[in-house]
This record gives sequence, structure tokens and C-alpha cells, in this order.
Amino acid sequence: MQVANNTIVEIHYTLKNDEGETLDSSEGREPLAFLFGSGSIISGLESALDGKSIGDKLDVVVEPEDGYGVHQETAVQQVPISAFQGIDNLQVGMQLQAQTERGVIPVRVTAIENDTVTIDANHALAGVRLHFAVSIENVREATDEEASHGHTH
Ligand code: ZN
Repeated sequence: MQVANNTIVEIHYTLKNDEGETLDSSEGREPLAFLFGSGSIISGLESALDGKSIGDKLDVVVEPEDGYGVHQETAVQQVPISAFQGIDNLQVGMQLQAQTERGVIPVRVTAIENDTVTIDANHALAGVRLHFAVSIENVREATDEEASHGHTH
């Protein structure tokens, strides 16, 4: 059976950056299962898996445009530290929920200098070229229920 729309695909994967550092891996966990064609994984990986079969192993390089997006400077903001009153132990790397005109969005604290805090609403992997090593563990037809819900059960 081949990977196609409305199949449930299970993969093991390891994700590295250009420097060869491992960013994420399914090793030691259940394989990642998803409904193919539903956009539940990044587009660059999904298109590389199309038509592949159980047992196939592949190395896929995904550019930021087809991954977690390019890094957008407009998503980086400097905010006075006084806006963070009530947050204990504010530090670089912290994830926060920011109230914006577009609703609540997750941001990361990327710098704290004097009385200014830099927050970044880009995805942590925005601008990163992604190197996936993937093995296809299983491919099966989605049930009608899975296909109509748009996800795997
Ligand atoms: Zn469901």
C-alpha cells in the first residue's frame, strides 16, 4: 500500500538542523501517525512522502518556506519590562501567552537587556532548514470516520 490522500501513515523520524543537531525524534516513542493530505504535518515533508511505501526510508531536506516558515522580523517586539509584572522569574527561553489585536498568541522571550524584553512570535523553527530521516512504518486506508474528521483515531 502506498502513501496517498486518505491513508493513515505512521513514520519514525529524526529531525536535524544544518549543524547536525537533533531537534526532535520519535525514537523511543510510538511512531507519529497522521492522516495524509490533511495538512497535519509540514508541507515539505508531506509532499516527499507521497507515493512511498511501507519500509521505505528517506532523507528529506525541507526549506523554511515549506517547513515552519521564514523568520519574520515584524513578529519580534521589544517591550518594557514593566509589562511583565506578575511573572515570576522572567528569563530568556520562557514561553508566554501574549495578548494582541489578533488574540492570544504564544511568544518566546529571546532577550532581556536592562529594562527591555525582546519577545518573538515566530515558531522556534522558523527560518531553519530541516533535515528529516524518515522510515515509513505503516500505511493503511483511513476509516470513513477518520477521513471525515480529518485526523487519525
Ligand atoms: Zn475524530
